Amino acid sequence: MRILITGGAGFLGSHLAEAWLERGDDVTVLDPASDVKIRHLRANPKFRVIRESVLEHDILEGLVAWSDLVYHLAAVVGVEHYVGDPYQVLTVNINGTQEVLAAAFRHAKKVVFSSTSEIYGRNTAVPFHEDSDRVLGSTLIDRWCYATSKAAGEHFCFAFARMGLPVVVLRYFNVYGPRLDQMDRGRVVTIFMGQLLRGEPLTVIGDGSQTRAFTYVDDAVRATVEAGLRREVEGRAINVGSEEEVAIRELAARMIKLSGSSSRLISVAKEAVYDQGYEDIPRRVPSVRRMRELLGVRARVTLDDGLGRTIEWFKRQ
Ligand code: UDP
Repeated sequence: MRILITGGAGFLGSHLAEAWLERGDDVTVLDPASDVKIRHLRANPKFRVIRESVLEHDILEGLVAWSDLVYHLAAVVGVEHYVGDPYQVLTVNINGTQEVLAAAFRHAKKVVFSSTSEIYGRNTAVPFHEDSDRVLGSTLIDRWCYATSKAAGEHFCFAFARMGLPVVVLRYFNVYGPRLDQMDRGRVVTIFMGQLLRGEPLTVIGDGSQTRAFTYVDDAVRATVEAGLRREVEGRAINVGSEEEVAIRELAARMIKLSGSSSRLISVAKEAVYDQGYEDIPRRVPSVRRMRELLGVRARVTLDDGLGRTIEWFKRQ
């Protein structure tokens, strides 16, 4: 098959590209970002990178026409951006998704859209089922621009599905692993990683009782490949996550233990890590029934195992 991955130079996209290449398929990545995460794939004759944005209409059109299956991962992701550059988040995530879906519709190509657990917001009724409510804060809090942009993208997906486009929505829950972000940037795992490797205290925001279900990238990729292959999931939204809920304080403690670092934990105010415009989510855990039943995938890498592999990778960098 010919696989187009928008945002394929990013963390998840780079692992997804690798997985499809390993299957023997042709992969094209459309991504204007640096290619450091996919450089190791360049020698493969079945792999190609186009360093352009999904907002480049003619290029997108040609690539969608070429492909058999489109993964739309291109998005501005990461809390630092939600609170730092909400304009970019809204523009790329909403307009980009509309462009990709419209092109796929013109060429009758299936799309797998990467959405997020963030769309459930601060709903406290965990686990989140795919039809759970979204509970978001005020639009004056920038954090919510990301959830809003992805929810708009999902609505576009379902609107196109009603017009006949084969489309699947995947909602990822805190995926992590090698190549996640640069150390000290992006998500909590990479922020802690930088602190760990320098022996500095790990900055746990608040009392650290907020929880997440961190999902190792290999598990997320297996689900993502299945979503592309299975026709019966078209028109559906599916959570992609692990059931292993962990408090951030516990995550920090485990990372210290696994890495053998001399770091300790400190509790910091959210302002110490993010500017204003940040609001935390107290608990985030998926219902994984659809992932299991519709995609036939269950997260099998434990948090300790996944963190161990991730720490090793970052130490080697
Ligand atoms: N967090 C933390 N210290 C940091 C960065 C993040 O305690 O230096 C917490 C953050 O408050 C949140 C969790 O880690 O509760 C996950 O944050 P991340 O930005 O990785 O993703 P989120 O799940 O909030 O989108």
